[in-house]
Amino acid sequence: MALRTIASLGPLTGRRVIVRCDLNVPLDDGVITDDGRVRASLPTLNRLIHQGARVVVCSHLGRPGGVPDPAYSLAPVAQRLSELLGTPVAFARDTVGESAQEAVAALSDGDVAVIENLRFNPGETAKDDATRRAFAQQLAGLGDALVSDGFGVVHRKQASVYDLAEIVPSAAGLLIEKEVDVLDRLTENPQRPYTVVLGGSKVSDKLGVIEHLLPRVDKLLVGGGMMFTFLAAQGHKVGKSLLEQDQLDTVRRYIDTARDRGIDLVLPVDAVVAASFDASADHVVAAADALEDTPFGADGLGLDIGPRTAELFADAIRSSTTVFWNGPMGVFEMPAFAAGTKAVAQALTEVDGLSVVGGGDSAAAVRQLGFSDDRFGHISTGGGASLEFLEGKTLPGLEVLGWEQ
Ligand code: ADP
Ligand code: MG
Repeated sequence: MALRTIASLGPLTGRRVIVRCDLNVPLDDGVITDDGRVRASLPTLNRLIHQGARVVVCSHLGRPGGVPDPAYSLAPVAQRLSELLGTPVAFARDTVGESAQEAVAALSDGDVAVIENLRFNPGETAKDDATRRAFAQQLAGLGDALVSDGFGVVHRKQASVYDLAEIVPSAAGLLIEKEVDVLDRLTENPQRPYTVVLGGSKVSDKLGVIEHLLPRVDKLLVGGGMMFTFLAAQGHKVGKSLLEQDQLDTVRRYIDTARDRGIDLVLPVDAVVAASFDASADHVVAAADALEDTPFGADGLGLDIGPRTAELFADAIRSSTTVFWNGPMGVFEMPAFAAGTKAVAQALTEVDGLSVVGGGDSAAAVRQLGFSDDRFGHISTGGGASLEFLEGKTLPGLEVLGWEQ
């Protein structure tokens, strides 16, 4: 079943609409260092404003632990939102108290108010259903409908994400609609050839995604820290590179599954091996079956895919119609080990079809390496939520909006 959309809520003029956004921006001393999430909330908010709704915006910010903490106030976010919308935005100093009620009561059609951080109240994230429900009931007092648009939190069973959506008429916002549309195309009937590129630090973080996607792809490319567990599973020595000994059997099973099903599992043929985990460490390129045959011997650490692998991966990516990439190919935070990640990012921008970047560090990597967002088909805003979606899990915050996988 499909997600309920904003249109399903009927005419919204004069109605109080609560919008659950993900405005969890990075703050440095009260200054927003990346307003990407505020910008991502604009399409839905503008649409509701144009429809004449009285818009009540709510979000979490950080982990204040269920008590008010000025360091996690949404005040700077409300300010930024006002600048980006080009309209005044009221701010309530509490979440469901007097200030919030006054701010909502003062709204005219098309006006916007932001209420204070949801996580200043312990009910928002309570494990206990009744406690969470009680907080959701208080939130429900502020609105006649809910538009859920915080994709980054849909994998959480929290008061504003889940319970509130059951109490008042609810629908998905434009951001959630877009995320679900794209991620669904990666799991159901992707246009072929379909290639998935995985990297990042640990195999164990990505087991669910590999399990769920492996049978669906034509090619799986493995780089990043997790490649060494795959290379070790094939009998290669990996020096001091990241190795998850306890995942060797699982990884061998993936290698067998890929072979049995005719899936092209592409492992690196070379790597950049460094003397130590350091931005200025000595480093050389070594073949995947000779990682210890370097001046650093068994002490060497693989910190990036090598140039031949980067070319191999880039070719595979460019010749695909659907590509999903999660996890940097190397320690991209250090320029000496960023080339593999850059080559993969570049190849994604050249895909004639759908290219999707998922994962918090991967999204940060493409921006840090100077690629603008619009060169990719989609950059997923929800790290954990997008991975859980791709693992085939049921996400409470989507299920409650009518979504069935
Ligand atoms: P994402 O957030 O995109 O899902 P991960 O959190 O799985 O990505 O992994 C990101 C981290 O993986 C980065 O900080 C990067 O430095 C690290 N990484 C990538 N390759 C290696 C490697 N060869 N050795 C150690 N760490 C690595
Ligand atoms: Mg990460």
